[in-house]
Amino acid sequence: MRQEIALKKIIEYTARKASSLNQRYEIEDLVAPSIADLVDRSMERIALTLVKRNGGLWCNLCSKGPFTKRGLYLHLIRVHTKDIEFMVREEMKRILDGIKKDRQQRYG
Ligand SMILES: [Zn+2]
Repeated sequence: MRQEIALKKIIEYTARKASSLNQRYEIEDLVAPSIADLVDRSMERIALTLVKRNGGLWCNLCSKGPFTKRGLYLHLIRVHTKDIEFMVREEMKRILDGIKKDRQQRYG
């Protein structure tokens, strides 16, 4: 349950990043401090794939636009939450698997 809430907030965080809106949360509030930087970089990467900046803000998933920052954010959250959730889940899984592997290598 707590994880689902965190996931929702991370999706919001990523959509805000894509739309260049101010954040309501710090990434450190959403994930463990030890992986905050890693997660932030991954969400930055996802954010870049969500938006096309071409004389305005365009949705890179369905080519709609141009949007205002707020408009793009609302579009991403309303229309593409599932897409973003999938990308976020994949990235989080990749990060956590990477940490697990790293620990196994270090401690056997
Ligand atoms: Zn779209």
